[in-house]
Amino acid sequence: MNTVASSPSWHARAAALEPETRAFIGGRYVDALDGQRFDDLNPATGRLLARVAAGDAPDIDAAVASARAAFQSGRWSGMPPANRKRVLQRFAELLLAHREELALLETLDMGKPITDSLKVDVPSAARCIQWYAESIDKLYDEIAPTGPQALAMVVREPVGVVGAIVPWNFPLIMAAWKIGPVLAAGNSLVLKPSEKSPLTAIRIAALAVEAGVPEGVFNVVPGYGHTAGKALASSMDVDCIAFTGSTATGKLVMQYAAQSNLKRVGLECGGKSPNIVLADCPDLERAATAAAFAIFFNQGEMCSAGSRLLVDERIRDELLERIAVVARDLVPGDPLDPATRLGAIVDATQMQRVLDYIRSGREEGASLRLGGRRVREESGGYYVEPTVFDAVTPGMQIAREEIFGPVLATLSFRGIDEAVAIANDVIYGLAAAVWTRDLTVAHRTARQLRAGMVYVNCYDADDITVPFGGFKQSGIGRDKSLHALDKYTELKTIWIDLN
Ligand code: NAD
Repeated sequence: MNTVASSPSWHARAAALEPETRAFIGGRYVDALDGQRFDDLNPATGRLLARVAAGDAPDIDAAVASARAAFQSGRWSGMPPANRKRVLQRFAELLLAHREELALLETLDMGKPITDSLKVDVPSAARCIQWYAESIDKLYDEIAPTGPQALAMVVREPVGVVGAIVPWNFPLIMAAWKIGPVLAAGNSLVLKPSEKSPLTAIRIAALAVEAGVPEGVFNVVPGYGHTAGKALASSMDVDCIAFTGSTATGKLVMQYAAQSNLKRVGLECGGKSPNIVLADCPDLERAATAAAFAIFFNQGEMCSAGSRLLVDERIRDELLERIAVVARDLVPGDPLDPATRLGAIVDATQMQRVLDYIRSGREEGASLRLGGRRVREESGGYYVEPTVFDAVTPGMQIAREEIFGPVLATLSFRGIDEAVAIANDVIYGLAAAVWTRDLTVAHRTARQLRAGMVYVNCYDADDITVPFGGFKQSGIGRDKSLHALDKYTELKTIWIDLN
C-alpha cells in the first residue's frame, strides 16, 4: 500500500492533532516545575502549533536524578543484553507502527515535506534503534595478552547518565543516533530536543516505556538551549554529554563540561562541505543531480550539505546548467502536500539568516545564477527558493560560513591541487566529495581531504553501519556504527593475579 497516496488529507489530520507538549521524567509526562511554556510555531504557516513545557535547571535536575536512580537500580544497566535487545526492537517496531503520526508531527514542527518525513525520517530513526538493538548481544570484551602470570580483562561498562542535546533539522534521526547506542549500551538518558522542533522526541518517550524501557531510563526535557541545554551540559551528575548542533554551541557545551564535572563530550557540529567535480567526471548528469540534492534536500538544512561546489572551469557551465534543471523542479511548497519536495525553513530567524547570506553573496560580487528570493510569503510561512551562486571566491562569506539553507556556492579551480587546497581551507571538516574517472586521483584526493566522510562519484551515501562525524571544528567523536558505542561506554581493566 502506498501510504502517501492513500492519505487523503494531512491537513485534516493536522487539524485534529493534539500533540503531547510536556516533559517526560521518570516514566510520566509532567509540566515544567515553574509552569512555564514556550511557543512552538509551524514554519509552513508561521502560526502557533503548540505551547510546550519550558524545562529549566530544576527540571533538568529532576530528570537527571530520575536517570541516575534508574541507572543505579540496574533494571536496565544490569539487564542481560539479549533482553535489552528485545525491548529496543519493540521500541523500533512501535516507531514504525506510529509512522504516520510521527511523520505528521515532524513535518508540522520543522517544515520538511511529509513524504520525506514518512519515507526517510521515521524509518531511518527506527532502523537506527533496531540496528543497535541487534548489535548489543553480539559484542565481546577482551583479554589482554599479558602472559600466564595474570588475567587482564578489558571490559566495557555503560558510562552512566548521558545527556543528549540535539538540533532541529532532523529531529527524530538526530535523537535516534543518540538513543540507539546510549540505551543499547545500558545507560540512562536525558534528551533535550531543540526548542524549534521538540514534539517527536516528547512523543517517542512514551513509546519507549510502552516497549519496556524501565521508567527513568529515558527522559525528555524540552526547553531553550541557554536554560535547559546549559543546565544539562553543566550538571554535576551527568557522565557524558552528546551534542549535535552548531560549532559555536558545541564550544559552549565543552566549556560547561570543563567547568562542571569534566564529563566526557561528544560533538557533532557544523560543516561547509566541498563537492569537487573534475573535468573527467564519469557522469555529469548524475553529478548534477547529486550536487543539487546535496544542497537542496531538507531545504539545505543539513550538516553534511555539499554547500561548496568546486568545479573545473572547463565543465562549469554545463554542470551549472544541469543543476539548474534539477533545481527548477524543486519548487518550495506546502510541506503537507505529498507532492512537495522542498518545504519551509524552520523559522523566521533561520530564513532571515539565509536571506542575509544571499545578500552578502551579491554584495561581495558573486553572480546569482538561480533563485535567491523568499517565496510563498502569503502563506505566513518561511520559504526560500533553491539558490545557486557562481563566481564565488574562497574569501567570500558564502564560501566560508555555514548557511544552513538552500544556497549553493560555486567556485572554480585549475587542477586538483588547487581544488584540495580550497576544499581544506575552512574551519570545518565534515564531508567532502570528488568526481573523477581516475582511480589514482580518487584515492589520493580522498586521503588529502580533511573530512570525516569522503564520497567518490556520489554524495551523501548513507548507512547506519558507517561512522558519521567530522574533522576539525566539525566535531569530536562519531555517531552511527559500532564506533558510536565508544562514546557511551567506559573501558575497565580488571587484573587477576594468577601467581
Ligand atoms: P544550535 O547549536 O543552535 O542548537 C543545537 C541544540 O543546542 C539545540 O537543542 C539548542 O537548544 C541547544 N543549545 C543552544 N544553546 C545552548 C547552550 N548555550 N547550551 C546548551 N545547549 C544549547 O544548532 P541548530 O541551529 O539547532 O542546528 C543546526 C546546526 O547543527 C548546524 O550547525 C548543523 O551543521 C549542526 N548539525 C550537525 C550534525 C552532525 O552530525 N555533525 C547534524 C545535524 C546538525
